Amino acid sequence: MSSKVDIDLYEVLEISSSASKEEIRKAYRKAALANHPDKVPEAEREAAEVRFKAVQEAYDILYDEDKRHLYDTHGMSAFNGSGEPGMGPGGPDLDDILAQMFGGMGGMPGGMGGMPGGPQARKPRRSPNEEQKYEVSLEDLYKGKTVKFSSTKNVICSLCRGKGGKERATAKKCATCDGHGVKQILRPMGQFLSPTMVTCSTCKGQGEFFSDKDKCKKCKGHKTTEAKKLLEIYIPRGAREGDKIILEGEADEVPGQEPGDIIFHLVEEEHPVFKRAGPDLTAEIDVTLAEALTGFSRVVIKHLDGRGIELKHPKVPGQVLSPNQVLKVPGEGMPIKRGDARGDLYLIVNIKFPDETWKPTPAVLEQLREMLPKPDAPIPVTTVDEVEYDPKGNIEDFGAHDPEGGSAWEDDDEEGETAQCTTQ
Ligand SMILES: [Zn+2]
Ligand SMILES: [Zn+2]
Repeated sequence: MSSKVDIDLYEVLEISSSASKEEIRKAYRKAALANHPDKVPEAEREAAEVRFKAVQEAYDILYDEDKRHLYDTHGMSAFNGSGEPGMGPGGPDLDDILAQMFGGMGGMPGGMGGMPGGPQARKPRRSPNEEQKYEVSLEDLYKGKTVKFSSTKNVICSLCRGKGGKERATAKKCATCDGHGVKQILRPMGQFLSPTMVTCSTCKGQGEFFSDKDKCKKCKGHKTTEAKKLLEIYIPRGAREGDKIILEGEADEVPGQEPGDIIFHLVEEEHPVFKRAGPDLTAEIDVTLAEALTGFSRVVIKHLDGRGIELKHPKVPGQVLSPNQVLKVPGEGMPIKRGDARGDLYLIVNIKFPDETWKPTPAVLEQLREMLPKPDAPIPVTTVDEVEYDPKGNIEDFGAHDPEGGSAWEDDDEEGETAQCTTQ
């Protein structure tokens, strides 16, 4: 059954491909009688049934002039899966295979409107979309951007208009695959040989081809040629990661199909200063200790469009900034697509305390102590120990050297009996 794909209807009826209608009818009667399941011994019945169905099918197609022409030009792929009699269940659905392998271009041009429920109804009429990622900086997403680039794509050959051959030439059916564009081979799957469909290498899946002298001079029979095209995409301001930019009909052209789209999926590049959450932005700003205490009026950050964002602090004299304090700037977030609204900007204050390079005199320190708020009342205790300490301790070491914790873990592992200690 699995060899149905390579079936030769003329062979089934044992006639030549130029047989007349009368010859076909006679051959059918003879073959049908010889293979009728009721006329063979029990043991041969199953095989006879298969042959009988094949004969019936061959006759149904070859005796009908339209169907015979279809078969001669396109092979069995024009009939499989169409509800035509005789193909029997369980065989591979060639139509599906062709659709998978070639996106529906397996030598199946139109012109079969007369076949109800024919396979062409399921053929995709567009060439496949081309999807690709497009990385965009946060600056470009903020401002919007037009990108021009040249793209090389396949276009229908302008000389033969996608035929692949010279004007008067006719394509020949590929004998290797009998016009199907695919062949069945036995491929090892584990210890078994499994029938697998592969693209016919002779016709490259087309099912037919022009002889060298008949090939179109321009596309050399490929039906398409490569062309450079200048394309332009517009990334609207406020666009986000995952947004799609679609260039309609700019995918590779395939003869007999509408061209698909090129689809760009936007990917937002990580930004060194700003982080984005939807319409809002956040960034850290550095403020010196003196500024945090006494105030400032200056540009604290360069925005995504290059503008300086100036803050005056404090609004009321005497207000100080604390570490990680959040300053919300309304309307300075990302633009929102379609419209003038914008998200908000959240500035997180990082206070830069003086480092070792600051060398205040004892007099200055004394002055500072006098000016700044006094410490709280002493902590009431009865015993006091003065201790040594490391001024450069590392919080990563916190809990990292627990001798008991470590050994307990190892013990559990070695004994492998933790399961009984269900409360652990
Ligand atoms: Zn051409
Ligand atoms: Zn072939």
